[in-house]
Amino acid sequence: MITFQGVGKTYPNGVRGLHDIDLTVERGEFVAVIGLSGAGKSTLLRTINRLADVTEGEVLVEGEAVSRATGRRLRRLRSRIGMVFQGFNLVGVSSVQRNVIVGRLAHRPSWLGTLGLFGREDYALVRDALDRVGLAEKIHTRADQLSGGQQQRVAIARALVQQPAILLADEPVASLDPVSTDRVMSDLRRVSEQLGLTVLTSLHSVPLARRWATRIIGMRGGEVVFDGSPQEATDER
Ligand code: ADP
Ligand code: ADP
Repeated sequence: MITFQGVGKTYPNGVRGLHDIDLTVERGEFVAVIGLSGAGKSTLLRTINRLADVTEGEVLVEGEAVSRATGRRLRRLRSRIGMVFQGFNLVGVSSVQRNVIVGRLAHRPSWLGTLGLFGREDYALVRDALDRVGLAEKIHTRADQLSGGQQQRVAIARALVQQPAILLADEPVASLDPVSTDRVMSDLRRVSEQLGLTVLTSLHSVPLARRWATRIIGMRGGEVVFDGSPQEATDER
């Protein structure tokens, strides 16, 4: 599903974000990427949908070289990859439905821009996605009326209506309380299992990674220093 071949990333200011990464992630894996701040977790995730360009090696998604995807091919690649961030990025004054349906824009030709024009299937996908994160009854609620954990689940629904093969979650629970954290992680894990979705999520907490992930990748200084099952991971970073 995703292959890193000798991937390095040096930022224009000379900072090395990634060094010599070789990894293969199979379909349906739920990978937690752990490590201290600055370890390269976010950079690793962002090379997959080309929010960050690699400077050495290659990332392959479903066999396609990410660095060679431009224009329409890049749009098609990104439509296969949903993304969730620490900050949710919802429009607070808009309804949950409006926020989620925006995910369908990934499948629009770019000339259509952000024009409304959504059809029945789009709204059906929104309802299905909200069902999966247990927020169907909030469909007409304003996003800013929801708790942080609920907002993150709306952001997950927005990613799901893209019908992605891969979901990247960059510190999705970093700003949430423990109860919301467990709910968001269990929703992610469940949709991964239900939909065969490949998930890569960066996390600060090793116990959280051990509880929810099927595989843990530990990073330090832009390198992979651990790659194994949750049982093999110890609670130290
Ligand atoms: P993490 O997600 O583990 O906190 P990052 O991938 O964000 O780590 O960062 C890895 C390294 O790359 C850090 O040293 C960070 O300062 C640096 N870095 C990240 N983004 C940029 C950028 N846009 N420009 C320059 N350096 C960056
Ligand atoms: P708002 O943006 O005012 O909070 P909604 O998100 O509920 O309202 O709906 C936004 C727009 O989508 C409205 O114009 C509404 O008529 C339309 N709409 C809502 N549900 C459907 C649906 N199931 N099928 C087609 N259009 C819909």
